[in-house]
Amino acid sequence: MSEHRTTVAGVAVDTRHWIGGQRVASPRTFTDASPIDGAPVGEISRGTATEARAAVAAAKAVFPGWAATPRAERARLLHAVADGVEKRTEELANVETVDNGALLRSHRRGVMPRVAHNFRFFADWLLTLEHEDFATRGHTNHVTWDPAGPCVLITPWNAPLMLATWKVAPALAAGNTVVLKPAEWSPLTASLLADIAAEAGLPAGVLNVVQGYGSEVGDALTSHPDVRRISFTGSVPTAQHIAASAAANLTPLSLELGGKSPLLVFADADLDLAVDLAVEQYDNAGQVCLAATRLLVEEAVAEEFTRRFVAKASRLRQGDPREESTDIGPTIHPRQVAKIDGFVRRALAAGARAVIGGHPGEGQYYAPTLLTDVRQDSEIVQEEVFGPVLTLQTFTSEDEAVHLANDTRFGLAATLATGDPERAERVTARLVAGTVWVNCFFVRDLKAPFGGSRHSGIGREGGTWSFDFYCDLKNTVTAPKGWKDHG
Ligand code: NAD
Repeated sequence: MSEHRTTVAGVAVDTRHWIGGQRVASPRTFTDASPIDGAPVGEISRGTATEARAAVAAAKAVFPGWAATPRAERARLLHAVADGVEKRTEELANVETVDNGALLRSHRRGVMPRVAHNFRFFADWLLTLEHEDFATRGHTNHVTWDPAGPCVLITPWNAPLMLATWKVAPALAAGNTVVLKPAEWSPLTASLLADIAAEAGLPAGVLNVVQGYGSEVGDALTSHPDVRRISFTGSVPTAQHIAASAAANLTPLSLELGGKSPLLVFADADLDLAVDLAVEQYDNAGQVCLAATRLLVEEAVAEEFTRRFVAKASRLRQGDPREESTDIGPTIHPRQVAKIDGFVRRALAAGARAVIGGHPGEGQYYAPTLLTDVRQDSEIVQEEVFGPVLTLQTFTSEDEAVHLANDTRFGLAATLATGDPERAERVTARLVAGTVWVNCFFVRDLKAPFGGSRHSGIGREGGTWSFDFYCDLKNTVTAPKGWKDHG
């Protein structure tokens, strides 16, 4: 490990910023540690307003050239980036696991292929982007998606490269240039992405990566007058700060924020399926924005559901995320462990009962927890924990189920387990959520709109919705030949 480089899982990673096609070091660094064992893995350049401004300037300088690059050529370069990701899948998966503690097997088989797919999907979608011309009193309306300019993309640590590329790919496809600010707790794969993009032939300055603490580098990016879009995934308080900062220039924002999503289990559900869906919520140690952390179970089946849930959850293996047999890895940071434990302790003090877990384990491994006897207006039901902590409440009617499901300030997702398709339709229509899954979970397609309602976010990403955000839409109205009527 040096000031500018580190080797993680046998992979060399440059720990400096990537600005205008150059590696740039800051005078100071911060230490990145692995959640697996708390060991330091790299000294990362600690960005300031200076590097932030340099990155925006680089993105601005090359924007006209990239925006004017024919769509087919932009698409070809994005496919070349996807090729690079596929070539380095094993390296990316290993580095990501050491850096953020999520399972190596899911990085290998699910996440990194999805990273490549992010580039391929938006490259291909770009080539089909079209709105049918239409006529107004003989005039032709023609809609185009014009690139907006430099974009600032700010991402969290729970799925670093997947979430970053979900923004980078459409922003670049749209003809924009990018400054990516990855999370300080998982900065490494963003640096590898810069290498891959450069190797793929992406022109210098089109993609820039600035490392550092959000509190130190963030404002200079989000209040910069040359930035045309800000896309942020992270927590509500940070989003509120960024929105205020962006307000100075009225910079359009896309916000993908937290959740407190419900899983509604009706008595007519396939109970084993419902239990599988519930236990799945411990994936990535509960550090998933979409996680259905509130189990709402119809009273008639609650006892049996709980019995089967406990039986299944107690078979989960928690440990080193690099092991094939591990189901749940560590929590990202000691601070996050303390935060989770604070939520659980306060809930227990307020009368909740821990059916399983309810305490930290060794190191950064928090025990999978299920709490019952929780009040709807309590903190543990209303606030996002972002750890392996679920609550269980019961209901006796569909109305009550819908009321409980909707009664938080969030609206990211909801999952239903029911054997009655008509009930599914009725309940879905009443739920406030960006995504509803019926008898399934986490099935996602980039063609679908993704985002949250209320405090879970502003805007939708996916398919044409991404291009709508990253572009200035223009309607050109052309008069028919020989048109003379000026009235
Ligand atoms: P966070 O808000 O603490 O940090 C996210 C990013 O914002 C980091 O890169 C951080 O450095 C940066 N940041 C912090 N302060 C900033 C500032 N003042 N200006 C600019 N940038 C700043 O969130 P987190 O703890 O990293 O992530 C967890 C949160 O993300 C959870 O709430 C989770 O639900 C949410 N999340 C949402 C989605 C979604 O798609 N809706 C997906 C994943 C995670």
